[in-house]
Amino acid sequence: MLPDYSDHSVSADEMPTKFLNPEDLHDLDANNDIETDKPQEACGVFGVLATNGDVAKLVYFGLYALQHRGQESAGITVYDDRGNTHTHKAMGLVAQIFNETILSEMKGALAIGHNRYSTTGSSKVCNAQPIVVNTRLGDFSLAHNGNLVNATELRAELSAQGHALESTTDSEGIAFAVGEAVEEGKDWQEAIVVALRRSYGAFSLVMAMPNAIAGARDAYGVRPLVIGKTADGSYVLSSETCGLDIIGAEYVREVLPGELVIITMENGIQSLQWEESKPKLCVFEMIYFARPDSVMHEESLYTYRMRIGALLAKESLVDADIVIGVPDSGIPAAIGFSRESGIPYAEGLIKNRYVGRTFIQPTQAMRESGIRMKLNTLRDVLKNKRVIVIDDSIVRGTTSRKIVRALREAGATEVHMRISSPPVTHPCFYGIDTDSQDHLIASHNSVEAIAKQIEVDTLAYLSHDAMLKATQVDTTHFCTACFTGKYPIDVPDKLKRTKLMLENTAP
Ligand code: SF4
Repeated sequence: MLPDYSDHSVSADEMPTKFLNPEDLHDLDANNDIETDKPQEACGVFGVLATNGDVAKLVYFGLYALQHRGQESAGITVYDDRGNTHTHKAMGLVAQIFNETILSEMKGALAIGHNRYSTTGSSKVCNAQPIVVNTRLGDFSLAHNGNLVNATELRAELSAQGHALESTTDSEGIAFAVGEAVEEGKDWQEAIVVALRRSYGAFSLVMAMPNAIAGARDAYGVRPLVIGKTADGSYVLSSETCGLDIIGAEYVREVLPGELVIITMENGIQSLQWEESKPKLCVFEMIYFARPDSVMHEESLYTYRMRIGALLAKESLVDADIVIGVPDSGIPAAIGFSRESGIPYAEGLIKNRYVGRTFIQPTQAMRESGIRMKLNTLRDVLKNKRVIVIDDSIVRGTTSRKIVRALREAGATEVHMRISSPPVTHPCFYGIDTDSQDHLIASHNSVEAIAKQIEVDTLAYLSHDAMLKATQVDTTHFCTACFTGKYPIDVPDKLKRTKLMLENTAP
């Protein structure tokens, strides 16, 4: 995946006219545009302290399960039995970067890994993680999910202190801050806490040092991080529970907001609350980012997404013949909508599930001849039907319009779009790549105006209250800033100016 999708997307007006011809194939994603018109998840982090030496393979499978969180680069750092590190990282998907030979050469009993999608720093292999820093106590390695809002200041401080930063990422600043504190005489725990206190923003970290892995979350716990354990006594840290399931680990608990855990075979999980917990989990993790089979708040996100679909039906029902979802993330909410409304659920859009994401873009000639990469319509299902189509969000609206046009061309007589989240009006500064505010269609258009632009018969969004009520936990424990502009972690003005239309920002 590439970092700046604005360069790679095609607005509906620029789409080849053949795309709109009913005789042609319905390529809704010739430019990977289904993904590009969604907020992009930032990263997946994973770590294992194992009872045997096959740890690299366990981390490989963990990263494989977390591939949806970042497809730009991936890496694994293994510690051998003498504490030396071996890192392999490259651009591409996990399955493209690693093979049996590479993994078999990465011997050791503890390792961490990372899947990256860049939100700070450019798309280069030098920005791939884990980041490894040499210290007097041995190598320290770090994998980061999130985004520091004081990255510029932290990097400037470290540069001024003489550190030669190699990447352009915020994550390197945290790793170097740990290294610096170790060199000043602190032990691992003290050094990590010093670095955490110098870091401001969203971070879920998986770290390693000789004989130990560690996990930490910012005080708000914006990004998830869980602890697991295998039957043979290996410890696991993972962004999501799906990373535990793939290697047969049992969920132990989440790393709490503001908590640091250091895990060794001798002492098990040692916990330190390094900062008071002020939970503000990204609600978009629940709606869209995390995998539906991952568990948060003791239930799968599939169940949460079905529930928001049911609430959407209660709030904005319309008479129709079928309910369909935009694959894959719109499907659970569509099923919930169907069950609540009694309107039959159908599959009207089919996603190509049998290929991975590709870095190869089709040529213009291929696009014009109607290459289908990701999504296609089912004419038999849609013909002469009044269709309710459920999606999880609208960002720029360009993909929504393509979907609506394709549904009509496949024979739908009415298209009613229902969105299982409120209108996205503000960008994210906490590790999710949303467009700048002026590109967010809902930041400067009413629902009626958006409906007109995406050419639906009717459009409705889930209410903010319903989105939070459906979590069935304390509704104050979520970040909802991209729907409200109320940022729980202060964003410096300089950073705000990069993405916000400040004259429209609530004080
Ligand atoms: S601003 Fe939106 S995407 Fe970013 S952390 Fe908050 S809820 Fe999540």
